[in-house]
Amino acid sequence: MTLPSHAEIVVIGGGIIGCSTAYHLARDHKADVVLLEQGKLTSGSTWHAAGLVGQLRSSASITRVLKYSVELYKGLEAETGLATGWKMTGCLRLATNADRWTEFKRLATTAKSFGMDMQLLSPAEVKRMWPLMETGDLVGASWLPTDGQASPSDIAQSLAKGARMHGAKLFEDVRVTGFTMKDGRITAVKTSRGDIACDKVVNCAGQWARQVGAMAGINVPLQPVKHQYIITERIEGLANDAPTIRDPDRRTYFKEEVGGLVMGGYEPNPQAWATGLPGGDVPNDWEFRLFDDDYDHFEQHMSQAIERVPALAHVGVKQMINGPESFTPDGNFILGVAPECANMFVGAGFNAFGIASGGGAGWVLAQWVVDGEAPLDLWVVDIRRFSSLHRDRDWVRDRTLEAYGKHYTIGFPHEEYLSGRPRIVSPLYE
Ligand SMILES: Cc1cc2nc3c(=O)[nH]c(=O)nc-3n(C[C@H](O)[C@H](O)[C@H](O)COP(=O)(O)OP(=O)(O)OC[C@H]3O[C@@H](n4cnc5c(N)ncnc54)[C@H](O)[C@@H]3O)c2cc1C
Repeated sequence: MTLPSHAEIVVIGGGIIGCSTAYHLARDHKADVVLLEQGKLTSGSTWHAAGLVGQLRSSASITRVLKYSVELYKGLEAETGLATGWKMTGCLRLATNADRWTEFKRLATTAKSFGMDMQLLSPAEVKRMWPLMETGDLVGASWLPTDGQASPSDIAQSLAKGARMHGAKLFEDVRVTGFTMKDGRITAVKTSRGDIACDKVVNCAGQWARQVGAMAGINVPLQPVKHQYIITERIEGLANDAPTIRDPDRRTYFKEEVGGLVMGGYEPNPQAWATGLPGGDVPNDWEFRLFDDDYDHFEQHMSQAIERVPALAHVGVKQMINGPESFTPDGNFILGVAPECANMFVGAGFNAFGIASGGGAGWVLAQWVVDGEAPLDLWVVDIRRFSSLHRDRDWVRDRTLEAYGKHYTIGFPHEEYLSGRPRIVSPLYE
């Protein structure tokens, strides 16, 4: 297919976020959309995601975004004919102490206000639902029956097919190399196969979004961090519709996969990806690539997971996945129109919940691109929440690593971050 010389909207990046945004722009707005992917679709972070899809967040609008994803994923296969691996298994979140239990009681109330049926279960009920689990240390668990799991590549490919069905043009092996700018706006996207004049650009370049943004003078404060999980051999007695588990006090998560378990976690000592390239850039040729297995670093999750699911001590590990994902200084993703450039929109920095967010993020971002305004109160993820401080790469790295380490910690009210201080101080500070 020949690259067009003009498009109303150019989407950069063929991961789940770019595919979902192109799908919604084409389906809901009949927009003239071109998507450019430097390698193959899904070849960035999307292909190696674990595929847990949870919905409940502390922000009402983000929960709405995640709920929308689930609604979309349920019906996508019927629309496009491409399987998504969607399974509504429900999710158990485990509490092992009184503070966590208080958090869950609050969450259950919040869930109710979002129209979600979250129940609180006793350890005995949890044991009945997940017999292979050790429940002796539990105070209880929350149960959200509408959470689930999916195959990340299949969902993205299904969205890509849907986008094409609605008229979007998707191109693989086309790298965006720069922009032609006039009066603070992008007038054309430069690519490895020629220029495309355009009205708007949507930067969905995942962990490359910072460097793609920099080509137009905009700041996308994110940091690629290494994240690992294992996939085990079959485990005797594990049901193929077993609920996903989040065990935040042990910092781990579990998902059934082909009779075995996917198990990963969020460690307090995460590893930033130091690429060695100038400015910490991510290499462009990182297509379908992973880091070497790091069992020494993963040991902290393994020992916690064996305490929870003792069968793990006796089962083989089929594969370890150690891949990079973009995380942000406050653990929330980045959406919206860049303050430095009136026609570049961003959808990036998904903090390891991009599969869960993908459907909904594409929906709101497409609406935002067309209307110039967010369709919901999305301030918690709005790119304008960042300031010039967030151009400091060392600060962004340190704060992002702290945010990663807090992924499963209890969200106490008014808790402050400790890293990157003192940075801005009052005249009275000593
Ligand atoms: C180990 C691991 C497990 C995970 N598990 C889960 C999970 O269970 N649930 C969940 O919700 N999330 C999970 N995630 C997170 C999820 O994978 C990501 O949030 C999601 O894939 C991000 O999608 P994306 O489209 O933003 O980025 P990507 O998939 O990285 O897509 C960005 C694309 O942009 C392209 N691109 C970059 N620069 C250019 C350019 N100059 N020109 C053209 N194209 C360009 C890249 O090639 C890439 O394909 C996990 C992540 C990791 C690392």
